[in-house]
Amino acid sequence: MISESEALARVLAAVASLKIETETLLAAHDRFAAQDVTATVPIPAFDQSSMDGYALIASESTDKAPLRVTGEQPAGLDLGLEVKKGCAIRIFTGAPIPKGADAVIMQEDVKRDGDQIVCTEPVVVGENIRRAGADLCQGQFVMRVGDKFTPGRMALLASQGLESIYVHTLPRVAVLSTGDELVSPGQGPLQAGQIYNTNGLMLRGMLSRLGIRHSSHVHCRDDLQATIETLDRLMDANDVVLISGGVSVGDHDQIKPALKQLGVEPDLWRVRVKPGKPFLFASRQKPHTTHVFGLPGNPVSSFVTFLLFVRPALLKMMGASKSQLMPRLIPATAGTALENPGDRPHYLRGTLTDGRFMPFGLQQSHALLSLSRSDALVRLEAGQSLQVGDATQAWLLD
Ligand code: AMP
Ligand code: MG
Repeated sequence: MISESEALARVLAAVASLKIETETLLAAHDRFAAQDVTATVPIPAFDQSSMDGYALIASESTDKAPLRVTGEQPAGLDLGLEVKKGCAIRIFTGAPIPKGADAVIMQEDVKRDGDQIVCTEPVVVGENIRRAGADLCQGQFVMRVGDKFTPGRMALLASQGLESIYVHTLPRVAVLSTGDELVSPGQGPLQAGQIYNTNGLMLRGMLSRLGIRHSSHVHCRDDLQATIETLDRLMDANDVVLISGGVSVGDHDQIKPALKQLGVEPDLWRVRVKPGKPFLFASRQKPHTTHVFGLPGNPVSSFVTFLLFVRPALLKMMGASKSQLMPRLIPATAGTALENPGDRPHYLRGTLTDGRFMPFGLQQSHALLSLSRSDALVRLEAGQSLQVGDATQAWLLD
């Protein structure tokens, strides 16, 4: 059995970012930049007012002498107005600063009478003016290869007038649920011994959260020939096949024998982690590269191994930079005594409230209620125990 870090290293060594395509900014949301972008349009693009008020010469605001309002410049086309001595121009937020003006006084700080204003407060040079390029100047980096397209970054790209962008293609992913006991939700009622297939939906939901919204789903019986045929077909048509169940050592676990028949040798099988020990990873290079992840059938094992190994691999294929492959850990304290008497690191499921982690419900790999109520994972090393208040780190699920 190998460690989690060794397993992850092998998986990441085997996967590469997918080919590059152009996408509209909207469709690129949550994906990763395949190109550096530098600014061609500064922010602000021109000196502009940050207030509704009057553009003037700052030194004239202290005179208490009336200023004549000679024009009006709203946001929009620059009317080419000019502020002359003893004058002011009505101006609005986002409007270009007229020639000659070096400040804007807000409308609340003037008394207006007809076409004249008197300043009731002084303004200094530059006040209420947003200078061109103060936020972003020409040539500055807007995005770097591997950055994620968040709404804020998409807004920044839009500020450059861009409509589309280079991204890596999304992986084609098929989820293969194995098990004679499985019935699709909606296809009940259950016969004695049967269960509803929960992993198929859960894994597709997890894919969707990574931005992979068009995965396919297939169910296969625990039959060697059917498994061989299904796997072969799915590997042909996809970049990634996510298998749930059938990777253990039971007589009805057909994944390893099927891969063997197909000439695909696992890169790794069995990882020192709880839940998730039977995790398997393999790749086939022909007719194109396809990666096969064998996740244990127990729902929590599938969930945890997806996060530990599948998610980073998919993110790498999508072009994410290295620092984004693993979840962000946040400081937490143990809300109760926590203990891992086992010989594998254990990912506990629970809730995080004001930084305090409390495990929730059963900590066994079939315990779906516990999983459904949990918003954080905490990893305990083999043999590790924590007292109430001890510092740890939590992996936020939402
Ligand atoms: P396996 O890894 O195939 O030995 O399955 C381990 C456990 O997970 C068994 O109790 C299975 O019934 C259960 N299981 C397997 N696949 C699924 C699934 N898609 N949804 C819910 N439970 C599953
Ligand atoms: Mg099974």
